[in-house]
Amino acid sequence: MFETLSGKLGDVFERLRKRGALTESDVSEALREVRVALLEADVALPVVKTFIDGVKSRAVGQDVLRSVTPGQQVIKIVHDHLVEMLGGEAGAEDESGINLNAVPPVPVLMVGLQGSGKTTSTAKIALRLMNKERKKVLMASLDVYRPAAQEQLKILGEQNSIPVLPIVAGQMPVDIAKRALQAAKLGGYDVVMLDTAGRLHVDETLMLEVAAVRDAVQPHETLLVADSLTGQDAVNVAKSFNERVGVTGIVLTRVDGDGRGGAALSMRAVTGKPIKLIGVGEKVDALEPFHPQRIAQRILG
Ligand code: GDP
Repeated sequence: MFETLSGKLGDVFERLRKRGALTESDVSEALREVRVALLEADVALPVVKTFIDGVKSRAVGQDVLRSVTPGQQVIKIVHDHLVEMLGGEAGAEDESGINLNAVPPVPVLMVGLQGSGKTTSTAKIALRLMNKERKKVLMASLDVYRPAAQEQLKILGEQNSIPVLPIVAGQMPVDIAKRALQAAKLGGYDVVMLDTAGRLHVDETLMLEVAAVRDAVQPHETLLVADSLTGQDAVNVAKSFNERVGVTGIVLTRVDGDGRGGAALSMRAVTGKPIKLIGVGEKVDALEPFHPQRIAQRILG
C-alpha cells in the first residue's frame, strides 16, 4: 500500500533535506509536489486542500525557515498533519479497536456493499476477538437474498472453529438477528456478529433493511466494510451508510492490493469515522489494526 505516494514524497523530501537553507518559495514548490502526489494517490480534493493549507500555514513561518534544519522541520509538519488526516493517535498496539464495553452479548453489525469483503471480515474479526481478546463469539448471517451467503459464513465458521447460528430456512433478517441475540444470551456469548446483506449499489431497500436490523438489536458497533480498491467510491459508500444508518467505524479491505491508498487517506476526513481495521489478504488472519502513526511512517519512510 502507498508505494507510489511514498516514492513521490520520498523524492520531494530528499531534496528538502539536502538543502541547508529554505525560502518560502522552496517550501511552496515542495508542497505543490506533495499536492500532486496526494491527488495522484486518489485522495479526495477537499481533503488535499485542507491538508496542504494546514501544512503551509505552519511551514512557512520564520521559526521554521530560520531553524538549523528547516527541511527536517517541514517534513515533521507534514508527518504530523498526515497522522491527523489518518485519524490521529491510535490506541495500544494489540487492540482491535472494537468497543465491547457493554453488557454481553455485545451486538456488532457488519454493513456494506456486496463483494466488499463483509463476510470474510466478519470471520476475521470474530477470530481476532476469540484469539487476542479471549472473547466467546457467535456469528450469524442475515443475508437471505444471495443463496450461498449464509452457507459461506457457516463454512468459514466450521473451518476456523467459530460458532455460527444455525440456518433456519425462510427466516427474515430482523428475525434472524433477534434469534442470534437470544442464542448468544442463552449460550453465554460475549459478542454476536451480524453479517448483513449487501447489494451492488447503495439503495433505499438496503438502507431500510439495515436500519430495521439496527433498530431491532441496537448494535454497540456498526462497522462499515469498504473495498479500498474502489478508491473514492469506497469513501462515498461509507459516507452514505453513515448518514443513513450511522456507523461507528470502518473496516477497509483489500489494502494488500491497493498501491494508491486514496480511500485510506480520505476516509476519516470525509466521513468523520475512524478506520478501525484493515484487511490485508484473503486468509482469515489477514486483518490488522489501523494505526495512523504507523501508516504515516510507512508513507514517509
Ligand atoms: P461480501 O460479499 O462483502 O461478503 O464479500 P466476501 O467476504 O465474500 O469477499 C469477497 C472476496 O474478497 C473474497 O474472495 C474474499 O476472499 C476477498 N477478500 C476479502 N477481504 C480481502 C482482503 O483484505 N484482501 C484480499 N486480497 N481479498 C479479500
